[in-house]
Amino acid sequence: MSYLWENNVRKVTPYVPGEQPKETDIIKLNTNENPYPPSPRADKILREYESGRMRLYPDPDATVLVDALAERYGLKPSQIFVGVGSDDVISVAFMTFFNSEKPVLFPDITYSFYDVWADVYRIPYKTIPLTEGFRINVEDYKTENGGIIFPNPNAPTGVFEPLEKVEEIIKANPSSVVIIDEAYIDFGGESALGLIDKYENLLVVQTFSKSRSMAGMRIGFAMGSEKLIKYMNDVKFSINSYTMNPITQLCGAEAVKDGEYFDKTVARVIATRERAKNELSALGFTFPDSKSNFIFASHKSKPAKEIFEALKERKIFVRYWNKPLINNHLRISIGTDREMDRLFDALREIL
Ligand SMILES: *Cc1c(COP(=O)(O)O)cnc(C)c1O
Repeated sequence: MSYLWENNVRKVTPYVPGEQPKETDIIKLNTNENPYPPSPRADKILREYESGRMRLYPDPDATVLVDALAERYGLKPSQIFVGVGSDDVISVAFMTFFNSEKPVLFPDITYSFYDVWADVYRIPYKTIPLTEGFRINVEDYKTENGGIIFPNPNAPTGVFEPLEKVEEIIKANPSSVVIIDEAYIDFGGESALGLIDKYENLLVVQTFSKSRSMAGMRIGFAMGSEKLIKYMNDVKFSINSYTMNPITQLCGAEAVKDGEYFDKTVARVIATRERAKNELSALGFTFPDSKSNFIFASHKSKPAKEIFEALKERKIFVRYWNKPLINNHLRISIGTDREMDRLFDALREIL
């Protein structure tokens, strides 16, 4: 039976996150988490936190975290917006900046949350096909639009676009906000951060979920002109001031200050990724070159879906989408060397 109130419901098709299995004896290479623990300095905060402080509201400006990020990236605190994961940050950015009648542009193969946010906020959008080898064609973004967003490196392809290409897109679009989603930038790409002083309409978004091993803590941040950040804070403070809890703020700040640990673990992931490229090639996989913490691979003879299922039977989880254009690819997150060796052994069996 249908009721009239249902006519007034905001109906949406939600984003489907990667599976978080309950079993613990599995090898989890399906959601691009970092296989190494977060900085021991964050661990210390957790152990020493006095629970009595929970009585109080957190600092709505997350000052300790914003200040640590400002120091790390050589910015003013007023150029940084923090949120509960970059999903929160990007969602606020969509609401704040994409209010045109013209469509927001993003690639057809990309992070599958973008179209969901566009739908929930009733923002028109247009997806732009990637070209050969999952590359962005800059010319496609020199058209009227209400905003632009793409990840660099892209997800789920892992392809990194050189900064000159990124800048050409920003330069061609002074009338809209351009968001570069740099969730994977620390794994070998070159950040667009250096361009924010040159382009007032450029927003660079990063996260603690991948390179900083803190997906469960939910910390993301955006960097841009003071003007952009002020507009985002106005929207955020119109919805919910206290989004980030105090423990998260402190752990995040300590993790940012621990540059040495960060460099060490990122270098390890990169080394394992480069080894994985060789192993996967030898097993008959092809993939675009990855500058992220995952590889988007397709096998020369065995369908991706069959490999996905055979791996799952062996308790190895990778990501598979039964969607046009990418339904013969597996996205394999980079785990520890041991985990990857178990994956290669399983693949040798399956193939
Ligand atoms: C993982 C990811 C995010 C979201 O990360 P959070 O955990 O919400 O910080 C955003 N964009 C892309 C492309 C991602 O892969």
